Amino acid sequence: MLRSVVMSCELCDLSIKENVIFSNRLFRIVHVYDVYYPGFIRLILNRHVKELSELTTDELSLVFEAIVKIEREIINLMQADKINIASLGNVVPHLHWHIIPRYFNDRHFPNPIWGNVNNDSYIVNNDLLDKEKLLIQNLRNKFN
Ligand SMILES: [Zn+2]
Repeated sequence: MLRSVVMSCELCDLSIKENVIFSNRLFRIVHVYDVYYPGFIRLILNRHVKELSELTTDELSLVFEAIVKIEREIINLMQADKINIASLGNVVPHLHWHIIPRYFNDRHFPNPIWGNVNNDSYIVNNDLLDKEKLLIQNLRNKFN
């Protein structure tokens, strides 16, 4: 039973293509392409772990240091109004964190990006797309 759950996990399935910025033994950092949310980064634990409390103290430190490092880079480059850090795992119960720059006028603000749309006419400007490219490059430099 457990085996079939793990085997069908899309975050364990290494044949699914991801835009990996960095990876180590514990986790990988990927860029998520989202037309409304440039700078969307995801940190994914490499092994199939369902809940945060299953990690050791050292692992927790490593994961949260990396999340904070990503957040700082987003703050420095993207001039976001807020950074959202979300770990849900309801659909894919494999520990991962979404790190998302948010803007007061973005498509869903103040809702989560999976919530109701509040600004249907929101269009991402080219300046943000340029900053996203720089963010990915800086994260590659800082982590590798
Ligand atoms: Zn998994």
